[in-house]
Amino acid sequence: MEATKTMNRSRSAALYEEAKQYFPGGVNSPVRAFKSVSGPPLFITEGEGCRIKDEDGNTFIDFCCSWGPLILGHNNRQVRELVTETVAKGTSFGTPTRLGNELGKLITSNNKYIDKIRFVSSGTEAVMSALRLARGITGKSKVIKFEGCYHGHVDSLLVKAGSGLATFGESTSAGIPESFAHETIVLPLDDRKLLDKTLQEHHEDIACIIVEPVPANNGLLLQDRSFLECLRLKCYKYGVLLIFDEVISGFRVGFEGAAGHYGIQPDIITYGKIIGGGMPVGAYGGSQEVMRHISPDGPVYQAGTLSANPVAMAAGYATLQQLLEPGFYDKLEAKTQRLAERLQAYADQKGYTLRVQQVASIFWLAFADHRLQRSDQIDAGSMEHFKKLHHELLQRGVYLGPSGYEVGFVSAAHTDADLDEAAGLMEECLDIVFSAS
Ligand SMILES: *Cc1c(COP(=O)(O)O)cnc(C)c1O
Repeated sequence: MEATKTMNRSRSAALYEEAKQYFPGGVNSPVRAFKSVSGPPLFITEGEGCRIKDEDGNTFIDFCCSWGPLILGHNNRQVRELVTETVAKGTSFGTPTRLGNELGKLITSNNKYIDKIRFVSSGTEAVMSALRLARGITGKSKVIKFEGCYHGHVDSLLVKAGSGLATFGESTSAGIPESFAHETIVLPLDDRKLLDKTLQEHHEDIACIIVEPVPANNGLLLQDRSFLECLRLKCYKYGVLLIFDEVISGFRVGFEGAAGHYGIQPDIITYGKIIGGGMPVGAYGGSQEVMRHISPDGPVYQAGTLSANPVAMAAGYATLQQLLEPGFYDKLEAKTQRLAERLQAYADQKGYTLRVQQVASIFWLAFADHRLQRSDQIDAGSMEHFKKLHHELLQRGVYLGPSGYEVGFVSAAHTDADLDEAAGLMEECLDIVFSAS
């Protein structure tokens, strides 16, 4: 079986060739270059609801949703209206604004896991600031992170486990001094014994543990609640701060994010993506006691020219307000679960090696025969299946993030009919993927 037609992507291809003259690899963020899948990246011109349109006029049902921020789908009316109304009065003042207050109030009064919040301009910046805060409070410098969690491109977190018996990490990017990488200890997810041993031996040097409570950047490696609970208890025991990196899970698995989903109180939470409603916003928050260490109240310096930019605050406010509507998350989860269950049932019935891992409105297609919880359980060879699937889906008008390690996001704008249409096409493409193997 072959795709019924070959989609014309010539304009995107030409723009990509041009882009290579201006940007390294033709892009401003590496995964966008489509290196893990086939063909040139799509140049998108517009989005409406769950669909995006490219320069060649093709439309796609979008499950990337700008990598997560667009929980309401593209071009949401209320977001667009508040943003345009705000922009009409000027774009940036470098002063506090009432809109900033309103977003701060909306978040802190509906999230019992943080008392205070500080807005920054990206998820990376939020994580970087949270690490500094943890180090400032504890007076210690080392950080524990987990293999398979991504925390943005913070120097000391672009680190993998050291080889052999080395406790400290090795950087995964050129340009990061080994001395920075040595400040980070990388552990496998879900290994309580090794965690305890590491804390016992090094807790006097360890400022914090950072974890994606819903690891969703390297597939969707859902953890048992008991592992997260174990992190919480060990951190209390050893005087180490617990950071939940909720840049994806915040406002996604519920308004209170993973902290609320699991009922676990971290010391610091980082946000990004949804919090800016499609504009560049990140944030970090915690208790009064934790947050009083930040300047100008306290000695931990952190600042930003465009922090809490009013246009970005408007997009965030108009987005988050809609998430508080009764039943919002239940409805979104039910839709996503229906999609995941349909695909799983189809794969099971056909005998395909596929696990559809899902939580709330996040799903991940794993070419595996059992639930995956650690990054070393992901078979790199299975990414060939993804590459084929991605290509066939594009041909039929379904857009998944261009890497098999990326999760899919369902938005409130995806209707049951849209999801049924996408599921039918996914089933057709799975048949092709598995007939070739
Ligand atoms: C996306 C992401 C980041 C980085 O956010 P940017 O806005 O891309 O800098 C950090 N942590 C997690 C968990 C993320 O998903």
